[in-house]
Amino acid sequence: MLQSGEKLVLATANPGKRKEIQALLASSGVELVSLLEYPHLVMPEETGTTFVANAGIKARAVVEATGHWALSDDSGLVVEALAGAPGVHSARYAGLNADDSENNLKLLQVLAEVPDNQRAAAFICVMVLASPAGEEFVFEGRCRGRIGRRLIGSGGFGYDPLFLTEPDFRLSMAQLSSTQKSAISHRGQALREFCQWFEAL
Ligand code: IMP
Repeated sequence: MLQSGEKLVLATANPGKRKEIQALLASSGVELVSLLEYPHLVMPEETGTTFVANAGIKARAVVEATGHWALSDDSGLVVEALAGAPGVHSARYAGLNADDSENNLKLLQVLAEVPDNQRAAAFICVMVLASPAGEEFVFEGRCRGRIGRRLIGSGGFGYDPLFLTEPDFRLSMAQLSSTQKSAISHRGQALREFCQWFEAL
């Protein structure tokens, strides 16, 4: 079982996510190591059709390459009116090399005719903790909101400027401080679930 003092490799190269995870796990006693310490590790393609499948692919690849416990995360935006799209394709919604603003623009265009009360959406984050012995534990966080009609705010990343937060849909995720975002975000929730699980050991 994962123990205090043990190495845990974070299967993400995204510096923003790494910072968020490190802040929440700071007091856990686990030695967090990032993928930057394994520059030769080539991550496999995320070929799964679900967040769980993709997080599992990443976590197992890191365990295999490092011999240590690994914590991966896979996340994205699901929009009700689009039957769950962009979902696992969130990062490349507007094309393989699309950036955040191209993805946001496409989402705005696709939803142009959809009325406000049918623009419900959620950010979902799945984390998979995998052990060298082949165990796997899954943690999930979900943050509900609504897709706005224009970009608002300059914080965060990805779809944050289009994601209007509950309960009144007035502030976008990109208008929250990183502490406020962590308190409600899908990633914050999944991480807290992981921390509670770890503390209960
Ligand atoms: P990843 O595969 O977990 O890196 O995330 C896939 C994509 O989901 C990102 O490139 C973003 O477009 C979107 N995404 C995930 N989390 C967030 C978030 O907290 N805010 C905005 N967009 C997000």
